[in-house]
Amino acid sequence: MNILGLSPEEVALAERIDRVAVEHLLPIAERFGERHEICRELLEKMAEHGLLGLNIAAEYGGAGGDHRYSTLLCILREHLGYRDPGVDFTFGLQGLGTVAIVRNATDDHRAELLPDLVAGRKVYAFAVTEPQAGSDVRGMTTMAVRDGDVYRVTGTKTYISGAPDADVVVLVTRTAVDGGPPAYTAFLLDPKAPGVTVRQDIELAAPHSIGTIELDGVEITADRRIGAEGDGLRVALGTLEIYRPSVGALAVGMTRRAFDLALDVALDRSVSKGQLSDLEAIRVKLARMWVDATIGRGLVYRAAALRDSEQSSVREAAIAKLFATEAACRAIYESQQIHGARGVTVGEMVESLARHARRQRSTKGRRRSNARSSPVPSWRRRPMTAVRVPTSRPTIRCDASSMASGDDPKSLLPWATRPERSASPTCAWPSMVRTSSEHRL
Ligand SMILES: Cc1cc2nc3c(=O)[nH]c(=O)nc-3n(C[C@H](O)[C@H](O)[C@H](O)COP(=O)(O)OP(=O)(O)OC[C@H]3O[C@@H](n4cnc5c(N)ncnc54)[C@H](O)[C@@H]3O)c2cc1C
Repeated sequence: MNILGLSPEEVALAERIDRVAVEHLLPIAERFGERHEICRELLEKMAEHGLLGLNIAAEYGGAGGDHRYSTLLCILREHLGYRDPGVDFTFGLQGLGTVAIVRNATDDHRAELLPDLVAGRKVYAFAVTEPQAGSDVRGMTTMAVRDGDVYRVTGTKTYISGAPDADVVVLVTRTAVDGGPPAYTAFLLDPKAPGVTVRQDIELAAPHSIGTIELDGVEITADRRIGAEGDGLRVALGTLEIYRPSVGALAVGMTRRAFDLALDVALDRSVSKGQLSDLEAIRVKLARMWVDATIGRGLVYRAAALRDSEQSSVREAAIAKLFATEAACRAIYESQQIHGARGVTVGEMVESLARHARRQRSTKGRRRSNARSSPVPSWRRRPMTAVRVPTSRPTIRCDASSMASGDDPKSLLPWATRPERSASPTCAWPSMVRTSSEHRL
């Protein structure tokens, strides 16, 4: 186990995920471009390389890492997010849409649905939010009324990631209770069932398949319920508890990428008497980004480990996500500053990161009806081939004491070793943070 609680196999796995992303996933993502859709080819390629089944039990076709479900989800999202947050979205959505199935569905439902997840055959979504109930989940009004073996469901779910593409939706509704406190129940919804209307009526700054699901007396049989009647809030909040650290992991990946891009620029850009990287002000910015990535990573993997050991991680998951997503926004902003004008230029990776980071934290968007007939503006559909995706990075010297642990910093960011540039520049850090241990971020 290293300082983050990861086994040598998990560290090696992280390197493999990065390789698969660079060699097999980014070319597909670049061809697909910035479209507000799920790229099925990308899903199939992820499946081909076993990424979708890493944390799924072997009996459903997975690799059997289900006892490390949260940790593996974080490793995957950190490394996919580092390369391309859009690729991460395609992967991460599958996680959000299937946590409830993995944790709370019957064996029959798992046997029916998880092999398709592992094989990349289906897209899954998770529908809780409503126009008048976002953070306040208990305020939802979508109602499922039982009539024998059938529930009739009416209401509206909005801001549902993947809704326009989904084959299976985990739906959480209210259930009628005579005079008692409100109850909530989770179901498996077929988005093609009679009475379901899916609208792609929301457009986010970064490419993201998202939309609204209208339910008008939709019949769902009782055997499509997830968990018991009245168990829906536990299913919904349990899903979010497990998923939350992985949002932090994505943010850590983006923070590291923002750092690497900024470091590349700082080392390459000449200023009056040398390089940008010679300037104290720039080094301090870089150091802060690195510290943010390191702290975020520690928090994320601590929360995931707690969850995997079946301990409550509600608070830790919230702390990890809050810190890591805020840190990503800080780091990306500073990286944009170091990029100068390039930082706000379409086609630069850091500009794309900034839009993805906004999406991650933003909770509002423009709402339009019938967006299928009012397509995404052409400037948003530009191909990602314009995005610069450097795959190699320089070596820097950095300080173990700034990590406050006294450990070899390599062990804090163990899988970050990547091929170096042929003429690998070295950034000598300010003497106050210089150390003999070489740390490749
Ligand atoms: C990119 C994206 C993808 C999404 N995907 C999904 C999905 O797949 N499935 C799904 O069900 N939902 C999804 N959502 C919806 C998301 O869960 C909600 O946006 C979120 O719960 C916040 O709800 P809201 O937007 O209604 O904001 P509100 O709840 O109205 O909150 C507005 C602001 O007030 C703050 N606030 C609210 N309550 C309190 C309080 N008690 N104390 C202090 N501050 C408070 C919030 O933090 C926020 O800053 C997605 C949203 C986005 C942006």
